[in-house]
Amino acid sequence: ELADWQRALRAQFPIITAHPDQAYLDSAATAQKPQAVLDGVHTYLTTTNANAGRGTYPWANRTTTLVEEARDRVKRFLGEPAPERSAVHFTSGTTEGLRTIARDWLPQLLTDGDEIVVPVADHEANIAPWLETRHQLARQGVHIQVRPMPYQTASGDYDHTALAELAGPRTRFVATSHVHHVYGGNMNVHRIRRAVGPDAVICLDAAQSVGHLPVSASDLDVDFIVFSGHKAMALPGTGAVWARGTRGPDFTPGGWSGTPNTVGIASLTAALDWLDAAGTDRIERWTVALAARLTEGLRHLDAYEILGCQAALAADSPVQRRQGIVTLRHHAIDSGDLGFILFSHGFMVRSDQHCQGSAGESTGSVRASLHIYNTAEEVDRLLEVLASLG
Ligand code: PMP
Repeated sequence: ELADWQRALRAQFPIITAHPDQAYLDSAATAQKPQAVLDGVHTYLTTTNANAGRGTYPWANRTTTLVEEARDRVKRFLGEPAPERSAVHFTSGTTEGLRTIARDWLPQLLTDGDEIVVPVADHEANIAPWLETRHQLARQGVHIQVRPMPYQTASGDYDHTALAELAGPRTRFVATSHVHHVYGGNMNVHRIRRAVGPDAVICLDAAQSVGHLPVSASDLDVDFIVFSGHKAMALPGTGAVWARGTRGPDFTPGGWSGTPNTVGIASLTAALDWLDAAGTDRIERWTVALAARLTEGLRHLDAYEILGCQAALAADSPVQRRQGIVTLRHHAIDSGDLGFILFSHGFMVRSDQHCQGSAGESTGSVRASLHIYNTAEEVDRLLEVLASLG
């Protein structure tokens, strides 16, 4: 039944159906777009296109409304529909979203002697901006401490016991990812909240979770959710920051003085509609099952090491679930060469170190990341090719 549902969804991705001999396994970098998103963009550009927040003629009014409604759409998608309880700011992606929080908002939160926790084994986009804030404040004579978020390779999650020990009353801000972009672990955000207490601000890098699994702002109890629209099936150059109401920064001091990416925002609305209709819970079931199939197959291939989440590989593991990201290393073949060999067999994967921060260990690896358009046959074919290189 899940397989029939998946087949129907896969058929809605023109680039996928046009290339039946190729398998796109790089959705963690960017996702392919369903026809509904292409249609949403086409409709907007052929019926409405104008600038937002300016003109008073119908196309301009409709574009302004489109942007305002898209904010509400993001809130609804993240399970926080009450407009006054949160704010949404559109960006070009997660990198710009995190940078905006670090540059325009975080300095107002912190005073001399405060501490922030930074996930140094995560994506660089979720490390560099916070370090820059420290420098920015130091130039003004405000000195803050940066604590590295303790990460446990064995469980594929952060080390919550160690986090509880390092967090104290001066811990004001914690940056974390929701799903790790190399290891695929689904981080236990509730335990981070328990470790740091109710008053610390938690900023969630949801680049690898929005569009892949249900993401609920109220359930997660976080203050910021930052994601890339393009990884959630919208156009490149799209993204958003969701901010809990009382913490919400004034992201638009110039009001409507800049031109928003209206086409991108139209595509994001269409993408979120599509994802809600498809059901992110079922998308998660599908990709988690494919990742399990891939890791299970790899377990029998001695030439490969799977990075991170070691315990999560055991069938009866109580630890965090691995989402649809599997990163592996061949004991002898260079990752660039492996990526090239795999492409010659029709597989598109990501090679090398995946923009991982300095505490990461993914250099020389190959990442296969899955989405709803991927199939069990693709995973089995990939395993056959990998086995032939053993
Ligand atoms: N954070 C994580 C966890 C990511 O996986 C990525 C993209 N690889 C980013 C941030 C940056 O996203 P973008 O390129 O859309 O700004």
